Amino acid sequence: MRYLSTRGHADRKQFCEILLEGLAPDGGLYLPESYPQLDDLALTRLREIWQSQGYAALAFEILSLYIDDIPAADLRALCLKTYTSEVFGTKEIVPLKPLQTAGQKQPDLYLEALSNGPTLAFKDMAMQLLGNLFEYELARRGEELNILGATSGDTGSAAEYAMRGKKGVRVFMTSPHGRMSPFQQAQMFSLLDENIHNIALDGVFDDCQDIVKAVSNDLAFKRHYKIGTVNSINWARLLAQVVYYFAGYFQASQANSQKVSFTVPSGNFGNVCAGHVARMMGLPIDRLVVATNENDVLDEFFRTGIYRVRTTANTLETSSPSMDISKASNFERFVFDLLERDAVKTKAIFGEDLSRTGFFDLSTDARFPKAAGFYGFESGRSTHADRLKTIQQVFAQYGVMIDTHTADGVKVALAYRNPAVPMVVLETALPIKFASTIVEALGRQPDRPAQFEGIELLPKRVQVMKADVDLIKAFISQHCD
Ligand SMILES: *Cc1c(COP(=O)(O)O)cnc(C)c1O
Repeated sequence: MRYLSTRGHADRKQFCEILLEGLAPDGGLYLPESYPQLDDLALTRLREIWQSQGYAALAFEILSLYIDDIPAADLRALCLKTYTSEVFGTKEIVPLKPLQTAGQKQPDLYLEALSNGPTLAFKDMAMQLLGNLFEYELARRGEELNILGATSGDTGSAAEYAMRGKKGVRVFMTSPHGRMSPFQQAQMFSLLDENIHNIALDGVFDDCQDIVKAVSNDLAFKRHYKIGTVNSINWARLLAQVVYYFAGYFQASQANSQKVSFTVPSGNFGNVCAGHVARMMGLPIDRLVVATNENDVLDEFFRTGIYRVRTTANTLETSSPSMDISKASNFERFVFDLLERDAVKTKAIFGEDLSRTGFFDLSTDARFPKAAGFYGFESGRSTHADRLKTIQQVFAQYGVMIDTHTADGVKVALAYRNPAVPMVVLETALPIKFASTIVEALGRQPDRPAQFEGIELLPKRVQVMKADVDLIKAFISQHCD
């Protein structure tokens, strides 16, 4: 399998080459040259593997369709090492929980539990694999990598828990000082591993991001200190996420003739893009429903064909903060497919129109209706009031407590429910991460998994710093040997 850029660059690369890279040289995103196709027989075989050998074996089967530069035995070992019940809490790794009304034959919805990893958000599903892939590939090359990132919460902690103790990798993670939830701060700052460095910057999330960009734009510094990232445009993260659409499908269906729909709480369009890839491979997905919060860039596109990025000032701080985005960094991948892989047009709209005018308009493009038709996308948005109501309703009706992001998914999923097709909502975090909104909705504290008892009291390792590029650079060079 070779990978190409959505903006038409001539290079074709192998998986391990793009594993440690960010954007393609022309600013595009990497995608496989084609999506491997699974027919009924192949799906039946995967269903049997899932049923008899479980998630790690299924992950190996799917990854090996896209990765031909890691020996099969090594890739299998990496999957087995990553997806264990010790790390993900259950033997199934991603169990399906029916939400069923008493007296009804069918569940109203299913929740697919993706948030039982070390940081209680679905990002662990991909990041844990990425940690093992990085360690493997860096050892093979005899290289080191210093990951520099900015986080408002979930991504940073998932990256740190994936990279802690890994040979050849250091993490420098900036976050806005005092702005993450107390639980999130405790999760990150209580890591005492030598290769993990928390940097709390005076400022907001955008200041952190600006600093990371400024450091990365110093190409000499970047090369010398082998600076890399783990952001959501990384193809390996997306690929790892494809696997749980298969596992969800096999749990919600008995035979390959049945279709299943998924609703996905969305921010950067990484998670739902993995569903698109699964569907392109032949997984019988009916609808892919994109759920946004008040920051509804994506809902607007699927309703109107107009993609209009927000300014920082127009991006709201909501109670589902991991979906507070001004633009969706993975969206270019889907649009490239929607435009029948027209790289010239993709380059024109993402590389030129968007930076010049802040929007593009596909409403009159003959291919736009395929988004809902051929590609099966629907969308909806949810607000703080919807979120509170949905958390209350799901708790009262089904006795299940959901987090704020998952609530956005459930709210939108209920609008698209079709009794003939099972609807799976991806559970993207556990309520304990966003306790204050749960208290607002239910008047009580969310349950806390036993391993997180008292983490706010643990010793913390964090460097508080002014948001200054030279200070960050000095800190990095001090901590690299
Ligand atoms: C990151 C995140 C999302 C958004 O996922 P995308 O892949 O960016 O669409 C949703 N919910 C939670 C809890 C997250 O951490």
